[in-house]
Amino acid sequence: MQVLMSLQEEALALFARLDTPHALEEAKARYLGKTGALTERLKGLSVLPHEERKSAGAAINQVKGILERALQQRREALVQAQQERELRASALDVTLPGRQHGRGATHPVTRTLERIETLFRSLGFEVAEGPEVESDDYNFTALNIPADHPARAMHDTFYLAPGVVLRTHTSPVQVRYLKSHGLPVRIIAPGRVFRCDSDVTHTPMFHQVEGLWVAEEGVSLAALKGLLSEFMRHFFEQEDLPTRFRPSFFPFTEPSAEMDIGCVICQGHGCRVCSHTGWLEVLGCGLVHPNVLEPLGIDSERYVGLAFGLGVERLAMIRYGVDDLRTFYENDLRFLKHFQ
Ligand SMILES: [Zn+2]
Repeated sequence: MQVLMSLQEEALALFARLDTPHALEEAKARYLGKTGALTERLKGLSVLPHEERKSAGAAINQVKGILERALQQRREALVQAQQERELRASALDVTLPGRQHGRGATHPVTRTLERIETLFRSLGFEVAEGPEVESDDYNFTALNIPADHPARAMHDTFYLAPGVVLRTHTSPVQVRYLKSHGLPVRIIAPGRVFRCDSDVTHTPMFHQVEGLWVAEEGVSLAALKGLLSEFMRHFFEQEDLPTRFRPSFFPFTEPSAEMDIGCVICQGHGCRVCSHTGWLEVLGCGLVHPNVLEPLGIDSERYVGLAFGLGVERLAMIRYGVDDLRTFYENDLRFLKHFQ
């Protein structure tokens, strides 16, 4: 009897511990199968005297019934646990926030570029484009930049192969356009340019817009000043924006000038951005040098050209009050979202 009770306890403890249907059926075989512990005991009854055989048989059958019920309960519990696991795995949590499809926006530099293009189109300019990989002939020689000019050195310019450069300005587009179109021309050439340079106001890649207007009539230093002043007033939406032109030097223009505008941040009173001068330098310009026109077969006695070049990022920085040029290219969404 004692042996039977401990057999029952041992079996019940084992069933409760097993957590897969397969293991449970194996355990069942150990106790109730053909050669199971209980079955063996039933077989052993035949050697007992008749009176003992009856009560012992009843006791064994009672334990058998208990084990069978326990097995059935455990089977059902395992099936239910499995169903709950499956439900949980496939559950849809309706309290989770949905995946957002963020609305994109135009990058501030692109937006500035588009604004510049729109304004110059309204001033009668066409938009011309050219390759970013240039020959050093187009990039330098045709623009009156001699072979020994420091801008041609490796530390300023990215050379891809001897005589092949990433263009350092969009001026070569003007030369290409002059070669392929008849006069007069009135174009701007926007695009990416490349220089070995990196600090708060320089990045190795930046955007330029250069303008060229070559005609028999109407082109003069006065026209240049009027045109660029008009553009800046529209760009910064300030009708009385002060402008000034300081003499300068560029190999491809003569005379050459730097253009300043009154600081739009402090209105000329002096601030950190304008280094307390009240003025911001915005572009370089001048009348096209005869050494650029003549090799293209353009009579520089008859035709006059004006040219200018401005940095798109520079204008974007002033317009949006950004003090580090590099933030435009860090792809930080917190920064870019300001311009949505
Ligand atoms: Zn200022």
